[in-house]
Amino acid sequence: MQRYRVAMDLDLISEVLADEPAYRSKQVWEWVARGATSYGEMTNLPAQSRTLLEERAPFSTLTLVHEAKSVDGTVKALFNTHDGHPLEAVLMRFRDGRRSVCVSSQSGCPLTCTFCATGQMQFRRNLTAWEILDQALHFKRIEPIDHVVFMGMGEPMLNFDHVVAAARRLPDLGVTHRRTTLSTVGWLPGLTRFIDEVEEPIRLALSLHAPADALRSSIMPVNDRYPLDDVLAECQRYFELRGRKVFVEYVMLGGVNDSVTHAKKLGELLDRNIFKVNLIPYNPTGFYDGSSRTTIAEFKDALHAAGFSPTVRLTRGRDIAAACGQLAATG
Ligand code: SF4
Repeated sequence: MQRYRVAMDLDLISEVLADEPAYRSKQVWEWVARGATSYGEMTNLPAQSRTLLEERAPFSTLTLVHEAKSVDGTVKALFNTHDGHPLEAVLMRFRDGRRSVCVSSQSGCPLTCTFCATGQMQFRRNLTAWEILDQALHFKRIEPIDHVVFMGMGEPMLNFDHVVAAARRLPDLGVTHRRTTLSTVGWLPGLTRFIDEVEEPIRLALSLHAPADALRSSIMPVNDRYPLDDVLAECQRYFELRGRKVFVEYVMLGGVNDSVTHAKKLGELLDRNIFKVNLIPYNPTGFYDGSSRTTIAEFKDALHAAGFSPTVRLTRGRDIAAACGQLAATG
């Protein structure tokens, strides 16, 4: 592999600018984080440094392959890494002005959840922190962004070090830790490290999708390895240590996990002081049907009756296969 192809990481920038003052790479990062689109814009760098960087450190670790725009303003970008692995990121524009970027942490995903398009594609590799940041930076160059969710391709806790390194740099892009969410299916080694090692107020979301082990294992094989009780106990520890609620993501699969009985079980399983439930209308990926609006409303009512205040996620980018569970690097 050619070393210079690994691109926009500060180690490489420092290497390229080794003969210059140490603050140079910090200056480069400040420009990049503000949304600069080329080294040429970095006017406080000597011209010869900019030329050196142009020659030896490609501006992004990612190559944009395709971009699709939804009628609702959502934009999905398909990228390739320098070694040819595909990944996708999505910019969601909300009416209240929020600009949220959903980033991928892996190319593909090894965990094969049955309802997820990413889980059906071949797992390639973990992404580096810079490849993760470059997804957010791509959109930052178009407009200011204020939220980042690690809910794209991959299980973030399987790529813990790079994910956390990327998340820690997001405030430079204008995205505070409180507006950064890491989503996990409950990969315990990473979740435990997240709780023990990450003191920044980064939010935690748990992709739960079923209120009992047998059903959860049937749609999420990871549950055989890390069963519900263990995962929920770790989430409780996060709440006790950090004082922040855990978002529970629950995708509504028609006839699978969406009955009132399931809702009641979910209400019994979760402590409403610790968990906040977010219901996700399912976006067809060819494997399951989505629940009807009536079914979702009944499920929500049953959770209400159990003392929860569930929300139903606004579906964004369904027409360009950019919604939850639809990312499969098909452009
Ligand atoms: S839902 Fe998440 S963990 Fe499961 S296969 Fe998809 S990307 Fe992987």
